[in-house]
Amino acid sequence: MFVNDCLNTNEKGHLTIGGCDTVELAKEYGTPLYVLDETTIRNTIRSYVSSFNKFYDGNGMPLYASKALSCKELCRIAKEENIGLDVVSGGEIYTALQAGFPMEKVHFHGNNKTEDEIRFALKSKVGKFVVDNLYELELLNKIAGEMNIKADISFRIKPGVDAHTHNFIRTGQIDSKFGFALETGEAFEAVKEALKLDNVCLKELHCHIGSQIFDIEPFVTAAEIMIDFMAKIKSELGAVISELNLGGGFGIMYTSDDEPVPYENYMDKVSVAVKAKCAEHGLPVPFIYIEPGRSVVGEAGITLYTVGGKKEIPNVRTYVSIDGGMTDNIRYALYQSAYTVVNASKADKPADEIVTIAGKCCESGDLVQEHTKVADVQVGDILAVLSTGAYNYSMASNYNRIPRPAIVMVKDGKSRVIVKRESYEDIVRNDV
Ligand SMILES: *Cc1c(COP(=O)(O)O)cnc(C)c1O
Repeated sequence: MFVNDCLNTNEKGHLTIGGCDTVELAKEYGTPLYVLDETTIRNTIRSYVSSFNKFYDGNGMPLYASKALSCKELCRIAKEENIGLDVVSGGEIYTALQAGFPMEKVHFHGNNKTEDEIRFALKSKVGKFVVDNLYELELLNKIAGEMNIKADISFRIKPGVDAHTHNFIRTGQIDSKFGFALETGEAFEAVKEALKLDNVCLKELHCHIGSQIFDIEPFVTAAEIMIDFMAKIKSELGAVISELNLGGGFGIMYTSDDEPVPYENYMDKVSVAVKAKCAEHGLPVPFIYIEPGRSVVGEAGITLYTVGGKKEIPNVRTYVSIDGGMTDNIRYALYQSAYTVVNASKADKPADEIVTIAGKCCESGDLVQEHTKVADVQVGDILAVLSTGAYNYSMASNYNRIPRPAIVMVKDGKSRVIVKRESYEDIVRNDV
């Protein structure tokens, strides 16, 4: 009945997640509340791992893109599942360290790593720096030299692949703030430069073509372009790069309009293309990394809110006000992202009332969804917004001094807090 496997309806007509009654969760932990289903997260990670085993002789590893949702428990799960992490800031490195994550399995991304972050990452023994630009390359080489370290690096390459996704979250083309362009020769010059430096070792090439992508074709094309580039590097510079990172971007189901392909199909198709291209060029088959973020946690998460008011504007629309909004889910305000909203108190009733879900911030644009169908909404009902596990908590803010919600992890009918709700004291914690 629901797009996400972890959701169901119980005998009270309430929405359940991971076997827990969401109305009871709202009562016990308060709202707004993020809820994550652990089984969904682990199963998704395992499907990526098994796809490497099945189609690529196990010669690869997923790195969880922690920007989708970074907290200690997610790092622990990634560690237990034997995958790596992709981090983009000192804060995400710190979170991984605090969780006891094996730092050699961490890739450090970002288009403007600061000197402090680079030092911190080197000191923390981060496994790989995904270098974005020449300035960073030289800075990293200098700092690594001062610290007597040889840093393993990757280059972020813009393969020029145009994936079908929302404009704001498209990053593969030349006009992107990320990485080195292939077409202009910039990437090749950067490789030449890296090979001359003493304190970096170029091990990998990386590309990330966008996010919320449903087609496998652009991934295959990007992989082929990258292998062609590796072949050019080998033939013209004599250097063999043994690892290829194909980034993340696998689409998930937000509404019934979305049709994600099984994640397995990705490695099935990509591995065939990679092997064929390598054979064509006489290149060794590279170790492959992928960096799923959204797909690991997105569908595993929901957000629960309590309805506080309903405003019917005749011939215009009906606003339903919830006790959260853009502070815990900014994606509608930012990209008009579609979401499925369920009346968790009446999950067995037909969704036949058209409403606009409004947050509580002092912004007219603070909406979570417009003109969406929900079952008979009344004050006090618990609403669930589905597929909010990714880029919701991680993008949350304290606008209007609203404390960030807690995150509760559910599994087989049991629940536990993995991130506490912020208090008012937390809000003034750094005020002097
Ligand atoms: C955002 C990002 C990811 C994760 O993307 P998803 O769409 O969440 O899978 C992976 N790698 C890089 C470099 C990214 O910027």
